[in-house]
Amino acid sequence: MSDPFTTADREALVAAARAVAEGGLVVGSSGNLGMRSGAHLLITPRGSRLGAIAPEELVCVELGDGTVSADHARASLPSSELPLHLAVYAGAPEARAIVHTHSHFATVLSTLVDEVPAIHYVTNELGGPVRVAPYATYGSEELARGVAAALEGRFAALMANHGAVAVGATLEQAVERAFQLEWLASVYWHARVFGSPRLLDDGALHAVREQDRVLRG
Ligand code: 13P
Ligand code: ZN
Repeated sequence: MSDPFTTADREALVAAARAVAEGGLVVGSSGNLGMRSGAHLLITPRGSRLGAIAPEELVCVELGDGTVSADHARASLPSSELPLHLAVYAGAPEARAIVHTHSHFATVLSTLVDEVPAIHYVTNELGGPVRVAPYATYGSEELARGVAAALEGRFAALMANHGAVAVGATLEQAVERAFQLEWLASVYWHARVFGSPRLLDDGALHAVREQDRVLRG
């Protein structure tokens, strides 16, 4: 089957990548984004600056075997984290988009802790306390497996001594979670600088979910 992504899809992914870059979640050519449609994914090109991608450089890949779509005419290659994107979609069929960043506080914490605990109720937006996937070389199957496992039942994870990843049912949701994750990591970092922050228990997080249901539908 040929590339199912529309011009609008490509423009949306370029805009999302630019938002991630302009929001300061990446430096240089770090980070990558992808979105899924059926049996394909569209992913940012390897080594690209997320603020300066042309729509034609985005690469369409088959989810099943990771091969680049035959009608991809450009020289660009898929992100080196393609194995990670494939593993995450394999483990979370409802996921439609993935954002990988090297955002500052998430990366700082990824070197220090095994989890970002429930210090604030936005933890719910990320599916619960955020796990840290074990360190492995970027682009490796080992890293991909570790991240997919850390994301089980979650929408975000840290990657030890590397960065962060967020998933969503839409591209906008994945980007929003990448920003929420960075904010949560910065709050936890700053609180820890001064002491041992109070944490929210499961009951408090549950009450917030109930309140969301009542107030936000
Ligand atoms: P790519 O430019 O190949 O997507 O790699 C960036 C990155 O962050 C690797 O972990
Ligand atoms: Zn990276």
